[in-house]
Amino acid sequence: MSESFDLVILGSGPGGYVAAIRAAQLGLKTAIVERERLGGICLNWGCIPTKALLRTSEIYHYMTHAKDYGLSAEKIGFDLEAVTQRSRKVAGQLNAGVKGLMKKNKVTVFEGTGTLTAKDTLVVKQGDKDVELKAKHIIVATGARARDLPFAKADGKRIWTYRHAMVPPEMPTKLLVIGSGAIGVEFASFYNDMGADVTIVEMLPRILPVEDEEVSAFMDKALTKQGIKLLTGTGVDGLDVGANGVTAKIKGKDGQVTSTEFSHVIVAIGIVPNTENIGLEALGIETDRGHIKVDGYARTNVPGIYAIGDVTGPPWLAHKASHEGIVCVEAIAGLKPHKFETWNIPGCTYSRPQVASVGLTEAKAKDAGHEVKVGKFPFIGNGKAIALGEAEGFIKTVFDAKTGELLGAHMVGAEVTELIQGYVIARQLETTEAELMETVFAHPTLSEMMHESVLGAYGRALHI
Ligand SMILES: Cc1cc2nc3c(=O)[nH]c(=O)nc-3n(C[C@H](O)[C@H](O)[C@H](O)COP(=O)(O)OP(=O)(O)OC[C@H]3O[C@@H](n4cnc5c(N)ncnc54)[C@H](O)[C@@H]3O)c2cc1C
Repeated sequence: MSESFDLVILGSGPGGYVAAIRAAQLGLKTAIVERERLGGICLNWGCIPTKALLRTSEIYHYMTHAKDYGLSAEKIGFDLEAVTQRSRKVAGQLNAGVKGLMKKNKVTVFEGTGTLTAKDTLVVKQGDKDVELKAKHIIVATGARARDLPFAKADGKRIWTYRHAMVPPEMPTKLLVIGSGAIGVEFASFYNDMGADVTIVEMLPRILPVEDEEVSAFMDKALTKQGIKLLTGTGVDGLDVGANGVTAKIKGKDGQVTSTEFSHVIVAIGIVPNTENIGLEALGIETDRGHIKVDGYARTNVPGIYAIGDVTGPPWLAHKASHEGIVCVEAIAGLKPHKFETWNIPGCTYSRPQVASVGLTEAKAKDAGHEVKVGKFPFIGNGKAIALGEAEGFIKTVFDAKTGELLGAHMVGAEVTELIQGYVIARQLETTEAELMETVFAHPTLSEMMHESVLGAYGRALHI
């Protein structure tokens, strides 16, 4: 016996569950299949629980710097298990929230592992039982998992992926973080603020390599000042796990290999898409280096089968997955959505200080042939930043000198992950420098720096 739906979605991360809600809104009879927990990596093991941990380390940092604010705090400490429990509780609350949303929108949830067996058929394995689902349309939203080092698989004891690092059995004393993308830098920031001795190793010449070069350079200085050791242009050639820790063979810029002891290692070298054993090969669904190939409406090469989110490639972000899902479903329902594009997707790193950006870096804008005007405003010139005791950072804007188009914005400092959306909206509305300069920003706010940065690009900054 099989059940029939207009749409079946395989995987319930921010790609899958958001697509399901939109499909239900548009009147499609929808089912979602999940083998683990509703909400996917983002809610359960990614975006949300890491931000809960980072909130703890931020507050802990303020407590250890209470004096700076005229306060006194004595006997400051923490209970690692309680810290982790809070993060898991937050994830649990959101997981329950997604369950509620599925119910409210009448999306049928199938718990189990799904496999595509035909263009219109998906089989869900639920223990010993197989449930067959028939669908006019199937969206693959199976996400991705942590990439292991080829020479040392994460064991959860000494060598951790993000999953282990989120529920640490003990506090690392000396931590090696391999990889300096957003995930690596966030964990480095968390554990450093909680008191671990942290080293980051990055193969490329600079940390946060996708960000503007000035942002990477600023973060390099800021994290070094906080006590994190940064080894760029450096690789890890081997990890030997012993009784009390891990010996890492670190190959420096000069090619010399040195051995250093660490208590724990976090491997944050990227992700692997979940495309195995879901029936793609038998149906002839094309992939490119593991990622499912799709067009701007998330259509694969096989009619009726679509893919969204991490499984289709970068940027590997929750909001990218959700947006791709909405475009996909609206096209299925016969609406005429704008096709999915990546030009205006913001990226955020929630370390201390935070990093946020959208659009082209200065170097990429120049490479693309733009003559640019660049504005840069420092946090030290902003009253609110000084009042907050957060005077480190800057906001950089990159404009096309001829048209006034805002090509990119790059921020580092307190709360910039909340600020970036202002520029994202501006770019979506094709705003030019003139409208941004005319806009009134509330005082005192950090957002005034967004205004000043634009003014600065045209030689008109006021407070510097
Ligand atoms: C530590 C960490 C921090 C992050 N922080 C951020 C952040 O701050 N902001 C941000 O935008 N992004 C962040 N990300 C990335 C974000 O989590 C992903 O981009 C996002 O979850 C991708 O969504 P998705 O729907 O494509 O897939 P996922 O969230 O991976 O969901 C896929 C789901 O499919 C299920 N599934 C897979 N195969 C099957 C099968 N055969 N049958 C049934 N179910 C299956 C999985 O169990 C999973 O639940 C972070 C990631 C990590 C690891």
